[in-house]
Amino acid sequence: VKGYAGAKVAVLGLGRSGLATARALIAGGAEPLLWDDSPEARDKAEAEGFTLTDLGRANAFDGVTSLITSPGIPHLYPAPNKILARALEAGVPVDNDIGLFFRSFAASDWDDFETMPRVVCVTGSNGKSTTTALIHHILEVAGRPVQMAGNIGKGVLSIDPAQDGEVVVLELSSYQTDLARALTPDVAVFTNLSPDHLDRHHGMGGYFAAKRRLFSEGGPDRAVIGVDEVEGQFLANQMGMGPQDDRVIRISSGQKLDQFGWSVFARKGFLSEWRKGRQVASIDLREVSGLPGAHNHQNACAAYAACRALGIAPKMIEGAFGSFAGLPHRSQLVGERGGVRFVNDSKATNVDSAAKALQAFPRIRWIAGGMGKDGGITALQPHLGAVVKAYLIGHSARDFALQLGKTPHEICETMAQAVARAAAEAEAGEVVLLAPAAASFDQYPNFEKRGDDFVAQVQALIGG
Ligand code: ADP
Repeated sequence: VKGYAGAKVAVLGLGRSGLATARALIAGGAEPLLWDDSPEARDKAEAEGFTLTDLGRANAFDGVTSLITSPGIPHLYPAPNKILARALEAGVPVDNDIGLFFRSFAASDWDDFETMPRVVCVTGSNGKSTTTALIHHILEVAGRPVQMAGNIGKGVLSIDPAQDGEVVVLELSSYQTDLARALTPDVAVFTNLSPDHLDRHHGMGGYFAAKRRLFSEGGPDRAVIGVDEVEGQFLANQMGMGPQDDRVIRISSGQKLDQFGWSVFARKGFLSEWRKGRQVASIDLREVSGLPGAHNHQNACAAYAACRALGIAPKMIEGAFGSFAGLPHRSQLVGERGGVRFVNDSKATNVDSAAKALQAFPRIRWIAGGMGKDGGITALQPHLGAVVKAYLIGHSARDFALQLGKTPHEICETMAQAVARAAAEAEAGEVVLLAPAAASFDQYPNFEKRGDDFVAQVQALIGG
């Protein structure tokens, strides 16, 4: 990092991002003071050659420029972290690796404003990874040097120094945005807002405030904002100087937005871009296999708008959509046999995201279940119209069976059995969809392993 030479910077939390922070500080000539509340994490850091400093001792924060904390550390609730409390007492600014990244970026010397690297940040409740990966893919296809980091791939302080003309795309969670003291992207993307993570942010107000931080502080050159919820509409309203202000690109899946200065929206499978009352482009998304369903059309609009803000031509973006393979475990097309497609959406761990997946295809053989969440799948009742039959696995199989009521279903216990049964019964035109609406911990270490198992079973069955 630049701008910290000779500075004493405390680092609390020595996981992946904490250690990357330590390395970046050392490389920039700073003196990091490293600590973690867990003895295991401390041992691991020492084994990697780092020196530790007990930040809990008296006067530990004397002469310290800032405290960099990790998102995983409970900062204030249920009880304030002791080391954080010391930093607050000493008046030391608390920051995170994202803040450090932006400060360092601002401290760099660029030859020319026109060619200096651009930073794109993607936030929101759902679709962040898909949107981030899609922006990355489009820029790659367009021949623009690009790196992505944040919640996807590597930590922000592990990326290579950005070069002239390059774009850095960052996927940021609200845990990251609410802590960063500097957040100055050139293009900020807000996908959507759903009532998620509410415990930590104490209600919707706090969560929304955390997202909004990205759109303040001088503000990005362009803001791409999903306006399908009232919070997004409010954000767009506050960002712009009236409806024609084209610093804001409004996006939607379903609504027509041609009354605004700049908009990108998807309706009936077509994406259109409007600027100052004129249609600029129209793209048929119905045959784009990597982006099925209305939720992915929203992600397509977000990525399209961000790339337009970076000056990429509509035709180039259209071509890149066609070669986007999708991310593993998110509406990932695994294979096809006899007109039956197999789709892995193992990341659909809650009812909200499963509902999106269930609306993406007309006829579905649905593999669901695992470690069910509060309320099970009762809230999915209105979205079961496309389900031909459900194949239930895992701990929640019997609960889900009761909640399914009249929707045809059978209990399969294992993934292997569910895939075999669904494949045996599926007819041409149907989709065998893994969208569990449950966590994976009853049978797998994580949702990725669950998705991998689905993929392996499908491939064993159909070859591939
Ligand atoms: P995030 O990074 O925000 O968690 P992902 O792109 O990883 O988002 O997608 C996570 C899950 O959420 C997917 O499995 C999909 O079912 C669902 N999803 C993806 N995009 C959207 C969207 N725009 N709106 C609602 N749900 C979505």
